[in-house]
Amino acid sequence: MKCVLCKQGKTRRGKVTVTLQRGETTVIIRGVPADVCENCGEYYLSENVTGEVLALGEDAVRKGAEVEILRYAA
Ligand SMILES: [Zn+2]
Repeated sequence: MKCVLCKQGKTRRGKVTVTLQRGETTVIIRGVPADVCENCGEYYLSENVTGEVLALGEDAVRKGAEVEILRYAA
């Protein structure tokens, strides 16, 4: 698909690192499958992946972690 941010690049399947900020908690999730723009690096997550990522984030917030670094399990 075409990147909606820069409107120049095309996206390609890849892996990204997603960082979530929830109040005091920072959650870093590595190896998240995404479509990544070849031009500007913007990434797009599928609905399923977004749900998983948010669920992981909520878990970390509930545990009261300040910084949580996770690996996405496909
Ligand atoms: Zn782009």
